[in-house]
Amino acid sequence: MHENIQQGLIDFLQASPTPFHATQSIALQLEAAGYRRLDERDAWHLEPGGRYYVTRNQSSIIAFRYGKRPLLEGGLRLVGAHTDSPCLRVKPQPELRRQGFLQLGVEVYGGALLAPWFDRDLSLAGRVTFRRAGRVESALIDFRAPIACIPNLAIHLNREANQGWAINPQNELPPILAQLPGEEAADFRALLAEQLSNEHGLVADAVLDFELSFYDTQRAAVIGLNGDFIAGARLDNLLSCYAGLRALLAAEGDESCVLVCTDHEEIGSCSACGADGPFLEQVLQRLVPDEEQRTRVIQRSLLVSADNAHGVHPNYADRHDGNHGPKLNAGPVIKVNSNQRYATNSETAGFFRQLCLENEVPVQSFVVRSDLGCGSTIGPITASRLGVPTIDIGVPTFAMHSIRELAGSQDLAHLLKVLSAFYASPELI
Ligand SMILES: [Zn+2]
Repeated sequence: MHENIQQGLIDFLQASPTPFHATQSIALQLEAAGYRRLDERDAWHLEPGGRYYVTRNQSSIIAFRYGKRPLLEGGLRLVGAHTDSPCLRVKPQPELRRQGFLQLGVEVYGGALLAPWFDRDLSLAGRVTFRRAGRVESALIDFRAPIACIPNLAIHLNREANQGWAINPQNELPPILAQLPGEEAADFRALLAEQLSNEHGLVADAVLDFELSFYDTQRAAVIGLNGDFIAGARLDNLLSCYAGLRALLAAEGDESCVLVCTDHEEIGSCSACGADGPFLEQVLQRLVPDEEQRTRVIQRSLLVSADNAHGVHPNYADRHDGNHGPKLNAGPVIKVNSNQRYATNSETAGFFRQLCLENEVPVQSFVVRSDLGCGSTIGPITASRLGVPTIDIGVPTFAMHSIRELAGSQDLAHLLKVLSAFYASPELI
């Protein structure tokens, strides 16, 4: 069972190098399980017992299982996560010719840990918008093959490298794609047109625009002497998306269950499809059109916001509060912050802790050291937009925002178990 879901996560990560691809991966699994796609531009006819999903910007997705129990009685069980991860995003006019090499200019998306991007075999994926037979269309592409790298500077030329090294993203991050003979012009859009043809058989008249990011081609893997860890890119937060998806697909019974996976968390969630935009609110408006009834439903609901937490690292244990050092493979972490960087309160935490106890899932808690700043996530944002009772939780990880993060190999199963129990729970707080 554990190996099965670990392999499922590894495949999901591989198929999801960007938020667009993650949304597509989730949608494919939902469709295979009988979920029906809704289009926000059309009228919806939702029926109790139905299963639906809707996407926005192709990078955020909301799936819901409309249960037979009246919403005014049972409320909604919501699980939230995010589809995006820090990365290097290609600039609009990216071609650089330096010293006979073709490089691409990149922007840093989100709070990336930059050093691990050096000396990796990188590929490129995302969305391309193009004109074909007089129409403007978009398609997702993924080069899959390692087509670029950012080599380190040898230590002989940077003797201070191991004493701390400031990375200038403008100068030091453009990946190298090729060595070009002579002065031949490099045309990135022509390369994209070729990829559209190779990958989809599409002949574009012109590539108009794109949102592409680099990613590490090394496949995620279960590692460690005893297989204790999962190493991979984008565990923050595709691990939670995947656990939420699997829990939703396994849900049975009469409760109404929602999975919300949104883009742009790493840059503050403030966008049309981000958690600080109106996406979820507008879906709930269509699910419960009457405003007073919607408020009543929301107040009977609970959001479990799942995003990774910081496990206590043996080499840096002093970065944690002595009483709050979450361990890998010791279950999901309840995240608490009195300044509301996390939306957890004693009632939502109490509910979750009890749920874990009843289902024999170990549970831990995290509060940041009082002399360090605290991260945040979609929990407080969604709570303040909707007024929905919320708890922030997540599996402990190392190397958050690195190009290769590390989680405990048992924690995915722990998370899946408690999210499944949550979706099935007849009582909330
Ligand atoms: Zn995250």
